Amino acid sequence: MTVVTFHSDFSHCFPLGISRTFVAYKNLMAKKREEYDVKSADHFRNRISSVDKTGKHVWMFPKLVKGKFYKYRTWFSIGLLVVLFGVPFIEVDGHPFLMLNVIDRQFIIFGMVFWPDDFLIFMLSIVTFILFIVLFTVIYGRLFCGWACPQTVFMEMVFRRIEYWIDGNSVQQRKLKEAPWTGEKIRKRALKYGIYLVLAFVVGNLFMTYIIGKNQTFEIITSPPTEHLTGFLLVLGFTGITFFNFAYFREQVCTVVCPYGRLQGVFLDSKSVVVAYDNKRGEPRELPKKIRSENAGDCIDCFACVDVCPTGIDIRNGTQLECVNCTACIDACDEIMDKVNKPKGLIRYASETDIEQGKSFKLNPRSIAYSSVLLVLLIVLSVLIFNRSDIKVSMVKVQGFDRVDRNISNLYNVNISNKTYSKLPIEFRIANYPTAEVEIAGNKLIAGKGEKKEAIVKIEIPEAELKERKTKLKVEVWSQEKLMDKLTINFIGPSN
Ligand code: SF4
Ligand code: SF4
Repeated sequence: MTVVTFHSDFSHCFPLGISRTFVAYKNLMAKKREEYDVKSADHFRNRISSVDKTGKHVWMFPKLVKGKFYKYRTWFSIGLLVVLFGVPFIEVDGHPFLMLNVIDRQFIIFGMVFWPDDFLIFMLSIVTFILFIVLFTVIYGRLFCGWACPQTVFMEMVFRRIEYWIDGNSVQQRKLKEAPWTGEKIRKRALKYGIYLVLAFVVGNLFMTYIIGKNQTFEIITSPPTEHLTGFLLVLGFTGITFFNFAYFREQVCTVVCPYGRLQGVFLDSKSVVVAYDNKRGEPRELPKKIRSENAGDCIDCFACVDVCPTGIDIRNGTQLECVNCTACIDACDEIMDKVNKPKGLIRYASETDIEQGKSFKLNPRSIAYSSVLLVLLIVLSVLIFNRSDIKVSMVKVQGFDRVDRNISNLYNVNISNKTYSKLPIEFRIANYPTAEVEIAGNKLIAGKGEKKEAIVKIEIPEAELKERKTKLKVEVWSQEKLMDKLTINFIGPSN
């Protein structure tokens, strides 16, 4: 496997308080350039960074970054991890707060159950979600990938940190990889992959809880495998995939597998905000020396931004498919700018247009307009979700009417969908005719959780109370003294 890393500590090489000579620094940078293969014509256009000329995976050894963005991302990731691990344990009325059971086509969102019957809301949610992703990406680029994607959060904030802790910094990691199998290497590998396996089991099961709920997941992992063979295989599968992903596959999920990453070319335009190198300010790049050319740009060609990149790209080549907007290169470059007494922000959040016009990121009218559309979409969807009734009732009248003594009766075919997680005994009341009597065929109508029920209902009203041939009845559907739904139906009587 080809190994590419840029591991030297270039900070000692600057002419400011320096321990090495400029010649040494120049040689070092030349080596880096050679390693990075920048001499080959536009290599970044011809293949992705994690694959070498022969098509083999290139292992990344990104340097641990320090800086403002990394600090913010750490805190943000801690918050996300708390939410991610906490949500499956939140219950509303004894049911999960969030469960996306694609196997049984049953979804619980904010404690509300959505059955296949809620197809319309489901489709609207999907459309809103897709529109949201498209609009969000058009404005803010891959902000989600860098800050909130579980792949980035787990990789950079959990698994990578364990790697730094056990294998050391990027230089030590590289040395260890190239070293023969000694007792020390075996011990480190066993410890790292042992921890990875335990974490993969935990993370794999966490994702299971989002699909089948915490109780069922717990039952599967605590029962003998023969009792839940499918569940057991699922647990093994999730654990295996998670381990393979974070121990080996890593950034390739973003660069090769993730469809969102591959769609960036379609979504992004010159006004999208991305992590960008200010080529106007940075070029022509020139190594740091006592007397720099007059027209030298601010980039000192130190490769610090490349050293920290978890996908191994050089952001100075422009926006690339592999960039997950993790901000590591911003922090790395800001640190260099500090050292060479230049303003920070040579690499920053900016659009191509901002850079062309020499501006910093500001919300433009287009961003505001798109953000407003996003907000409206979210509000519409929230209103639909929160106003969704727990049951869906339809009453279709059977032809004609009956006269018994001095009462007129009509029959109705009733269809009920119970969208809740509980059994609902149903009764009907006629709000505008309190004297009306409602009789359910078989006396009782009980709809089980998620069940669809049919029934015949007879409504009887004293003839003297009917003023017209066709009377509108306001029907209320009650369950255990809770008003569940209201509907208006026609009641037919004799012509007066
Ligand atoms: S952009 Fe910044 S970090 Fe990258 S090579 Fe230039 S000066 Fe160094
Ligand atoms: S180029 Fe910068 S923002 Fe993009 S992945 Fe690399 S380090 Fe992260």
